Amino acid sequence: MKNSPIPKPKLGEPYLLTPGPLTTSYKVKEAMLRDWGSWDDEFRAMTRDMRSRLLDLIGPGSDMYDCVPIQGSGSYCVEAMLGSFVPKDGKVLVLANGAYGLRAAATLKCIGRTYHLLDKGDYLPPRGDEVAEILSQDAAISHVLIIHCETSSGILNPVQELADAAHAAGRKVLIDSMSAFGAIPLEAETVKYAAMVSSANKCIEGVPGFGFVIARKDELVAAKGNSHSLSLDVEAQWSAMEKTGQWRFTPPTHVVAAFVEALKGHKAEGGVAGRGARYYLNRDTMVSGMRELGFETLLDDRWLSPIIVTFFCPADPKFSFNGFYEAMKDKGFIIYPGKLTVVDSFRVGCIGQLDHYVTHEVVKAASDALTHMGVLSAAPPAAALKERKKLAA
Ligand SMILES: *Cc1c(COP(=O)(O)O)cnc(C)c1O
Repeated sequence: MKNSPIPKPKLGEPYLLTPGPLTTSYKVKEAMLRDWGSWDDEFRAMTRDMRSRLLDLIGPGSDMYDCVPIQGSGSYCVEAMLGSFVPKDGKVLVLANGAYGLRAAATLKCIGRTYHLLDKGDYLPPRGDEVAEILSQDAAISHVLIIHCETSSGILNPVQELADAAHAAGRKVLIDSMSAFGAIPLEAETVKYAAMVSSANKCIEGVPGFGFVIARKDELVAAKGNSHSLSLDVEAQWSAMEKTGQWRFTPPTHVVAAFVEALKGHKAEGGVAGRGARYYLNRDTMVSGMRELGFETLLDDRWLSPIIVTFFCPADPKFSFNGFYEAMKDKGFIIYPGKLTVVDSFRVGCIGQLDHYVTHEVVKAASDALTHMGVLSAAPPAAALKERKKLAA
């Protein structure tokens, strides 16, 4: 069973090689075919089951933590986490190397929390010694925000190193593990975060509609009254849920039902280790095949996540992203534009209901697309490689 190909999407839709929404299993979609009363015992049991399954994923020490689902997309949950756990007089060191770090800083600005932004540009990883240095100079910083996988480049940031640096200076750690949780370990006992967030439609492979905060219970208790927002108050959602078993406001019932099905699939696959192993294999087959075609990755192997990979666009003047996108779509694959400011790039996701048989087909489709466009070489422009050298420096 383990090595058998994952069934193709039953409805004939293309694979979404995007970091969520992503390709989900038919069982997950099917779980949305019935309606649920939000106050009903069955739905309350489903919410309870979901919260405890999620806590199981953070390993030993999970009894110190609780899981609080929040309606909305991932960004709503990031805002909920920041507003709830950072006191009004707190200050956050934001470790940014892409769009999601910058969005977190914009969120803090919007909700009136002060912050120090360490902006590493498009893809350079923040490092522990830089964090230690900044913290030693600014006693007002109470929290450090780490982006686990910065989805805009696909870089896997060194979470443990960064969390250790924060803790060594006596600061608390908040983590946006949106695109990593469920596939890359984030253990409570070693990383010791105060809180982290993720959402339904990434590595757990559910459909979009809500996210969840996993936080230390003492942090949840202490968060009372902090939030700038009524609906994004994590502590209020938590205490209401503890008391009644219900979500405070209308829950995305079908999305929750689909998510519980997705969590069962996750467990059957071998949990975080099993899910991660499939994604790494997806990435490795895709990256090695694309490199054989002449494509180059933005990142060195050391920083490549198994979530999404950025490739430079070929320098060949016959190449255009739009032409490539359409040719890939014709073959049944939806890819993603790049987000780099300096050179043109595109991204291919490794997550969702697909395996290395599929990523093998992705490479074949890319090869056909190049032929179709008359592109002779997939090699990137010299400027791209120069840019990449910065990583080694
Ligand atoms: C997807 C994602 C988010 C949330 O994005 P939404 O579009 O609001 O779901 C936040 N941070 C990271 C790192 C992400 O990958």
